[in-house]
Amino acid sequence: MSKTSCVFCKIINGELPSKKVYEDENVLGIEDISPITPIHYLFLPKKHVQSLNDLEDMKIVSQLHKALVEVAHREGISERGYRSVINTGEEGGQTVFHLHLHLLGGKQLSGRIN
Ligand code: AMP
Ligand code: ZN
Repeated sequence: MSKTSCVFCKIINGELPSKKVYEDENVLGIEDISPITPIHYLFLPKKHVQSLNDLEDMKIVSQLHKALVEVAHREGISERGYRSVINTGEEGGQTVFHLHLHLLGGKQLSGRIN
């Protein structure tokens, strides 16, 4: 998917609305439009990268996680626990081809992740 037609790039540049939960120089955190848990947020690098496979600078993975940990703490779920997930490619369940890290929490999650 090209950058110009990318839904998450449109959210980042303000062309599409979102509910923002976090923002810094490199990362935007938003509410998932179709949450599967009481807390379901997405952390996106502001720079378009299709997937983990296309990432040249792995530093962004830390930046996404740093943001997620901060928001999990703010939401009060740090101690209870939560799940952080990156889906990669079609078989990995990726549907939006702009790298993103899911934060899932607010309820007891199953030990199975498939
Ligand atoms: P994935 O399957 O890992 O690619 O996850 C894509 C996620 O993006 C799904 O959980 C969708 O519900 C979510 N999503 C798709 N479009 C939007 C949007 N416009 N705003 C917020 N979340 C979205
Ligand atoms: Zn994009």
